[in-house]
Amino acid sequence: MTDSRPLSILTIAGSDSGGGAGIQADLRTFAAHGVHGLSALAALTAQHTRGVTAVHVPPVAFLRAQIDACFEDFRIGAVKLGMLATAEVIHAVADALERHAPTHVVVDPVMVATSGARLLEQDALDALRERLAPLATILTPNIPEAELLLGHPIADEADAEAATVELLGLGCRAVLLKGGHLPGDGPVVDRFDDGEGLTEFEHPRLPREGHGTGCTLASAIAARLALGAAPAEACAEAGDYIHGALAAATRPGFGAAAVLDHF
Ligand code: PLP
Repeated sequence: MTDSRPLSILTIAGSDSGGGAGIQADLRTFAAHGVHGLSALAALTAQHTRGVTAVHVPPVAFLRAQIDACFEDFRIGAVKLGMLATAEVIHAVADALERHAPTHVVVDPVMVATSGARLLEQDALDALRERLAPLATILTPNIPEAELLLGHPIADEADAEAATVELLGLGCRAVLLKGGHLPGDGPVVDRFDDGEGLTEFEHPRLPREGHGTGCTLASAIAARLALGAAPAEACAEAGDYIHGALAAATRPGFGAAAVLDHF
């Protein structure tokens, strides 16, 4: 029997009261792709364009209830993971994903905000590496996140190339290592590897501090996977989307952080 329900995508992530990152960015990205967005709140941040002022993590039983409610009723084409805050939350999310077995899981290993605020407890790193990486269709770390996952510095383009292969060794089906944090003012190079060889996606560096760029990129990848794109194609198209969204970003607060334009 054919399933007539339109596609939905589920984000399991943190809320940003400032509306720039996290769940709020994810839902806007899903809407921009014409896909219905579902959300399970793993953490709540009190936040504005200058930083995070407080974090609240709801009980994991409530997170589990949100995830189960979504899977009980919707046709979920992909799941996107963002800020998960603690090891306990990561284990609860991994257990739920193992039970529901969605087709695609995009894991954005959120650890520290651009403003410097910690979004993942130190002891949660092992859980992320051991429980979530193996569930990922695509793992999307930036350079500082990859350094923490691998336990060594990534100083230049050659290191980034080697790190992409090492990250695949964590058990994800593909990795997109975002190169924006590497030194230099040349183009930003993101590296994709699915075990079939390395592909590079290049964009001019924009002179602005985007807020929620990682969340938006991972959500755009999830949307494109749900709509049927292959992983490499999803990453290439999502990279172009984020570049356009950042080029058109505005600064709604007093801080430097720009909020993306989710066209
Ligand atoms: N707040 C929440 C809830 C997030 O999920 C994230 C990133 O994933 C951030 C803040 C940090 O965003 P950025 O580093 O782009 O400012």
